[in-house]
Amino acid sequence: MMNRRQFLTAASLGALSLALPTRGLFAQAQAHVVVLGGGVGGATFAKYLKLADKSIRVTVIEKNRTYIRPYGSTEVVTGHIGMKDLEVTYDDFARKYGIEFVFDTVVGGDLDKKSLRLAGGKDISYDKLVVSPGIEILYDKIEGYSESIANTSIPNGWIPGEQTQLLANQLKAMPQGGTFVLVAPPNPYRCPPGPYERASLVTEWCAKHNPNAKIVILDPKNQFVTDKNMLLGWNRLYNFNIPAEFMEGMPSDVKTHTTPSHLEWVRAKEGGKVKSIDAASKTVHFEAGTIQADVLNIIAPMRAGKIAQQLGLTDEKGWCPVNLTDFASNHFKDVYVLGDATHGGMAPKSGFSANSQAKVTAMAVVNALAGKEPNENPVWENTCYALAGSDYGLFVADVFRLKEGNVMYRVNPNRYPSLQQTPVQIRQGAAYQQAWIRSFTQDCFA
Ligand SMILES: Cc1cc2nc3c(=O)[nH]c(=O)nc-3n(C[C@H](O)[C@H](O)[C@H](O)COP(=O)(O)OP(=O)(O)OC[C@H]3O[C@@H](n4cnc5c(N)ncnc54)[C@H](O)[C@@H]3O)c2cc1C
Repeated sequence: MMNRRQFLTAASLGALSLALPTRGLFAQAQAHVVVLGGGVGGATFAKYLKLADKSIRVTVIEKNRTYIRPYGSTEVVTGHIGMKDLEVTYDDFARKYGIEFVFDTVVGGDLDKKSLRLAGGKDISYDKLVVSPGIEILYDKIEGYSESIANTSIPNGWIPGEQTQLLANQLKAMPQGGTFVLVAPPNPYRCPPGPYERASLVTEWCAKHNPNAKIVILDPKNQFVTDKNMLLGWNRLYNFNIPAEFMEGMPSDVKTHTTPSHLEWVRAKEGGKVKSIDAASKTVHFEAGTIQADVLNIIAPMRAGKIAQQLGLTDEKGWCPVNLTDFASNHFKDVYVLGDATHGGMAPKSGFSANSQAKVTAMAVVNALAGKEPNENPVWENTCYALAGSDYGLFVADVFRLKEGNVMYRVNPNRYPSLQQTPVQIRQGAAYQQAWIRSFTQDCFA
């Protein structure tokens, strides 16, 4: 396909016949792809689309001039890094790839007419639209909780920002011997190992700074991804006794501790599901009882970012159904949805997944603009690194492909590190996590 510059050069040399359908050619060369959301999925998509074909006009609409990365944000809670370390800006990125950025909030639109409405009052049209708006937190799904409570006294922080800093401040100020309660979310949610990593790092922090503190996870589930590796880490680091049903394959150094752990995990089967909270006293009523927290972190249920609901991209469960071959929306033509907002087949709601989806979809959009079908045999990857302690790394790694009938399947049988890993391998796992954060941020935003 000839781009606009090649066309103009050729035209100035008189190499083209005047009879050519120039308007059609220009229209094709100047295809306009609009990206809603400049987070992991949106930024990666914009970059890889430009790398694939720089003649395409790409406009990212992002509500914030500075992106605060969610991945790694628990390290702010425990003071390993500051909020500034989570910040990503777009100026160099936009210049390097020739991507246009509009800093505004999309408030609606008519996707049948290929048009988006911005808060600033403008309408913006597109040939193809890629939507990666992340998540909306459903604070009100927990009785007694609300966004204003989250902003002032009981943070959520799963979309990082001021609530993350509030939680960090509260942890630091927690009275000696206090109780930190973390309410884990129901499936599906952003970053499957994330709540358990957060509980781990808070427990580690308390061991140093608040040794008699108690950390309680209240969970509406009975298991989580990476659970066996994480529980093994907890057994070694925090005297945690591993429930019998997770013991198969555990190494011989696993102990039955007689002193109680400072970390407690109350699962659904033990009545861990939260019924309501009293925000003023930070009291949580859950199925098996009541607990008063000094610091309370509620990771409430979530669904696709609000704008996805407003644009009619979601289903009754609140997530965006897509055709898995290219992540094209099931609801509108020429619209694609990426990242946490999608159902995404088996792929978890992780940054790694959003980035991998973005690359596959960038190629699908290049093909679609050239009138070609998407690759019928795409491959996606995901690796979620997580920490049971600062030097105790673990992961879940997946490669996904498609079966006929638009069904995603997992290619690799071994998703987790061996439970028999050596201490060196475990330390390396933690180092890989740190290295991944740096290289991944480069891949998405630089
Ligand atoms: C504590 C924590 C730890 C995590 N750790 C990991 C990890 O180790 N590995 C991993 O892979 N993932 C991790 N994640 C998950 C990862 O950060 C997300 O899965 C990823 O950011 C999803 O990308 P996205 O593009 O879907 O959404 P986002 O990155 O949230 O981007 C959405 C963007 O859309 C913008 N937007 C939304 N609505 C509008 C609108 N109406 N108008 C304009 N702009 C809009 C937002 O401002 C935002 O910039 C973690 C998350 C948390 C909370």
